[in-house]
Amino acid sequence: MSEVQLIRSMKGLTVLVTGAGSGMGRATAQVFAAEGANVAVTDLPGTPIEDIAAELRARGLSAQAWPLDVSDADAIKAVVNDVAVHFGSLDSVVNNAGISAFCPIDDDDAYEGIWNRAVTILLTAHQRIIRAALPHLRKSAAPRIVNIASTEALGATSRDSPYAAAKAGVTGLTRALAVELGREGITVNCICPGPIRTGMTANVPEGDKETYAHRRTALRRYGLPEEVAHMTLSLCLPAASFLTGVTIPVDGGLMARNA
Ligand code: NAD
Repeated sequence: MSEVQLIRSMKGLTVLVTGAGSGMGRATAQVFAAEGANVAVTDLPGTPIEDIAAELRARGLSAQAWPLDVSDADAIKAVVNDVAVHFGSLDSVVNNAGISAFCPIDDDDAYEGIWNRAVTILLTAHQRIIRAALPHLRKSAAPRIVNIASTEALGATSRDSPYAAAKAGVTGLTRALAVELGREGITVNCICPGPIRTGMTANVPEGDKETYAHRRTALRRYGLPEEVAHMTLSLCLPAASFLTGVTIPVDGGLMARNA
């Protein structure tokens, strides 16, 4: 391996981030742009992706917004190709878009719908984006895929089975594709965030957040979206070339703690 591949910079490389209009996706877009990447800021129409990209460009950074609903297979293909044409490459994909999907197993009216939505957005979208991105990743000197799962993929909360099942699927997809694509030098890794202050947890009252964090995490606090984004960045650096197929909890020690 030549030294030039062990670069600790994203300068000139292109990353596509899904769900980049809020929370961890937004922080990921900001962290990658600050490290010199061209950032495709994608999220649902109506989210502040244009403002996020404009704010990055105003700082002299490289970013462009694309509306993208990851449950739309045709839109995925179109946006992935547009991004690669616009920036001239696609080197990293961060599958981050997500929704909550709580539902008791006995709720016959709601369960099937919530299950299907969870699997479509949290799992099926990952493979679709990866498949659309592969022709471009295959041309990259540092091809990287990062899937955002959850500590719910490793342990579970009652009444969260659609979410937990979809997120566990993401860890399996990660391992399988790491093995399948490894011979091509494409790395595929997974991050399992613990409790993070984002849109998804915004309506958890502050007192409940504190109680939960004290009881469950080693660091006794919720994490910040940037603390996950920096791990994502680390996994996408050209220098992260011998790390693949792993599932990394970024959870303040939640999975490590028994009592
Ligand atoms: P968030 O709600 O702040 O951001 C999620 C983003 O995903 C939103 O901008 C939303 O518009 C977007 N999104 C939802 N459905 C979409 C769709 N169909 N197409 C495109 N975009 C869509 O939440 P977050 O916490 O930043 O979530 C990011 C990821 O982290 C998710 O996959 C989530 O499951 C995961 N996660 C979050 C936590 C946490 O504590 N916040 C913990 C573990 C895992």
